[in-house]
Amino acid sequence: MKKKTQMIHAGITGDEQTGAVSVPIYQTSTYQQDGAGQHRGYEYSRTGNPTRHALEETITALEHGQAGFAFASGMAAITSVMTLFNSGDHVVMTDDVYGGTFRLMNHVINRLGIESTFIDSSDPAQVKEAIQDNTVALYIETPTNPLLKITDIAEMEEIAREHELTLIVDNTFNTPYFQHPLELGADIVLHSATKYIGGHSDVVGGLVVVNNETLAKDLHFIQNSSGAILGPQDSWLLLRGIKTLGLRMEAHENNTQRIVHFLNQHPKVTNVYYPGLSDHSGHEIAQRQASGFGGMISFDVGSGENADHVLANVKYFTLAESLGAVESLISIPARMTHASIPKDRREALGITDGLIRISVGIEDADDLIDDLRQAIEN
Ligand SMILES: *Cc1c(COP(=O)(O)O)cnc(C)c1O
Repeated sequence: MKKKTQMIHAGITGDEQTGAVSVPIYQTSTYQQDGAGQHRGYEYSRTGNPTRHALEETITALEHGQAGFAFASGMAAITSVMTLFNSGDHVVMTDDVYGGTFRLMNHVINRLGIESTFIDSSDPAQVKEAIQDNTVALYIETPTNPLLKITDIAEMEEIAREHELTLIVDNTFNTPYFQHPLELGADIVLHSATKYIGGHSDVVGGLVVVNNETLAKDLHFIQNSSGAILGPQDSWLLLRGIKTLGLRMEAHENNTQRIVHFLNQHPKVTNVYYPGLSDHSGHEIAQRQASGFGGMISFDVGSGENADHVLANVKYFTLAESLGAVESLISIPARMTHASIPKDRREALGITDGLIRISVGIEDADDLIDDLRQAIEN
């Protein structure tokens, strides 16, 4: 099955009983049993729900995995994955992971006795150096936010195999339409489905897919025990979002390439970060391990004042956190998503006051470019 067909036909679609083409929303907490302990596959909706199950089967197929799990948010998914580990364990992580992941590890998971070390995973030497005797997992995000740094997944797999680490990849930015971490050797792939998979700024959810039976059993046990499940309505919204994921990702990327081209030759733009640019540090790896470069761009307009000016004057870019939706969004990482990082550390990372991040939507590219032009020039 080709990718676009998969988005429509993979996993579970429709309803066998009625012939409904769309998976029904099974808004139920419990299920009648035919006799004590004799159920028809479902007994209680924390444990399993047919709408959630359809979504879990679909994401499993899209990620080429063994089993999938839907959670109440991306963070609930990541938290559940972290509880696979035990007190005394250590995790090596990409240093510019999603801010919420950083907070989770440093303020919640650490209290359970699971430690983490953050390194630049685009440099394999730093990864190797961070591995300790008690390291059990390597957690990477690629591309990252906001500078879109790229980590070589296959190279991480080699390191993980040598040290018997569980390799976890946050695939939120590229989605299974562009990147298949499990194929490249990852053990677990996860998503904030709030972003591209949902795609319409109307649902918060998280998805995890694993590549073997043991992880499947363990994660199902955790999902059922701790209960951070996605409800049936939200599961249905994600199923609906996935139908157009292929179309949307192509539209995001086409628009993004045109905007990158415009920004890259604009005299008032000092730096453009996009893995599709041949001078981007991770360009070759991105080209090798993904079939697209995605819809996120960061660019520098030189100062916080200039950035403010652009934000105040754009019409089609909504000032908001989040990303991956049909509508274009704009933000200033230094004052929004990355405000908690001290200024000198931010500057060292390249997250300057003048850095603007855009999540390119699927509006007409001409309108988006005209909008950015007038906001930058006026
Ligand atoms: C948003 C995001 C998360 C967290 O997901 P929520 O759905 O907001 O809980 C995790 N990783 C990445 C890369 C994200 O962009």
